[in-house]
Amino acid sequence: MRILRAGANAVETLIAQKPQAQRRYRLSRYAWPHAEGGRFLLLHTMTREVLELTAAEWAAVSRFRGDPLPFELLVHSGLLTLAEKRYLVEEDCDEARGYALALFLLNTMHGRKPGYTGYTILPTTGCNARCVYCYEAGMAARTMTEATADRLADFICETKREGPAKLRWFGGEPLAAVPVIRRICSALERRGVDFVSGMVTNASLMTPALAREAKERWHLREAQVSLDGAREDYAARKRYAQPDRHNYDGVMLAIRSLAELDIRVRLRVNVDMDNLSRLDGFLEEMAAEFGGMHAVSLYLAPLFQAQSGTDSAPLLETVFALRDRIRALGLARAEGENKPTLRLRYCMADGLEDSVVISPEGLLYACEHLPGQRPWGSIFDGVTDGALYAAARSPREIDPQCADCPFLPRCTPFYRRGCPDWSASCRMWAQLETEEELRLLLRGAEADDDAGVL
Ligand code: SF4
Ligand code: SF4
Repeated sequence: MRILRAGANAVETLIAQKPQAQRRYRLSRYAWPHAEGGRFLLLHTMTREVLELTAAEWAAVSRFRGDPLPFELLVHSGLLTLAEKRYLVEEDCDEARGYALALFLLNTMHGRKPGYTGYTILPTTGCNARCVYCYEAGMAARTMTEATADRLADFICETKREGPAKLRWFGGEPLAAVPVIRRICSALERRGVDFVSGMVTNASLMTPALAREAKERWHLREAQVSLDGAREDYAARKRYAQPDRHNYDGVMLAIRSLAELDIRVRLRVNVDMDNLSRLDGFLEEMAAEFGGMHAVSLYLAPLFQAQSGTDSAPLLETVFALRDRIRALGLARAEGENKPTLRLRYCMADGLEDSVVISPEGLLYACEHLPGQRPWGSIFDGVTDGALYAAARSPREIDPQCADCPFLPRCTPFYRRGCPDWSASCRMWAQLETEEELRLLLRGAEADDDAGVL
């Protein structure tokens, strides 16, 4: 066997165990096998290590997928290393408990720093579109006042950690409240605060002049632009209040304006079974428009409503098949160096560790999905609901339905219990992502002769 991808060293050290005689062993729930084209891989979903096995080792490991087998068979099959690395575990091993303990220790070692690095700011909850799937539909349109924007600049100065503050403009449609963004950025600029920003927008209000201002004055580095596939789907789903002024063609121009300024644009294409069928032509069009622009990338996001339906399998499988096509068309985001690590937090809402969400009234929330949430504080008064704040900062218990899931380390105990966006097809999504990761690793690893041998 050889190491195809090294794992997270700290996690490996924490979980390694000497195999014990007299015990019986089985395949760990966190060992994910993958066979393809005559090659045999084993991924550990906790350490993220990937091993490549010989056909004989694969056959030997496969025997441990059934009833637990004695220690002697480990020795005889040359699989002691796999037991040390916890691909094979004792028959009565409580793996979810082991995972929770490792997570606790790593979180403790990681420590908590005061203050924030990220600020998700809703300058307004108003929007010039009325997307058919909007989860904020029905929320009153509220826009931040000048006094609140001024106080927010103070709040950022008082609470930011060292290094640049990362502002994320969210809404509603943040570009429907440009004066608010201008006011906050100018105040930070005057005080010499180091900051960069990103934005989640429909881009219909973005103009070339505004893109230049965003780059220079708002320090905009990245924009996530939501699309809905083919032109006809876009019009039917976005339902702009003024479709003659705000429309698909204008958004294409806006994307180009941003990308030409080297602002990264991530096109989030919301899909369900209906618009998926017209996606081929749309992807060709996007490749013709933006394929050569390194700043533009595209990904498919199954709509929450579609993902939670009774049979989401065809949708998710088609989405993953199309991801290969998106890569082939040069529209996927360039993969960075993906250093394996155990995910300590799921998102900004998990523990309120790094970021806060700020509503137009200056109220503080854990998560950007405001509907149904209570604020835990405000930029004026700090923590106003101590119990809610403490609860949001406490680690979540592992949900009983996640205790036997191989993908728990990807999700952390938070996802199912703390995320309003949790979808019932979570396990299928995690499995498809894992299989894709291994497929890509195999493609990239074809000529890798430098990997370690065990
Ligand atoms: S949320 Fe779903 S995918 Fe994640 S650990 Fe739980 S069951 Fe598994
Ligand atoms: S929707 Fe879920 S993932 Fe997103 S911030 Fe809220 S809790 Fe986190």
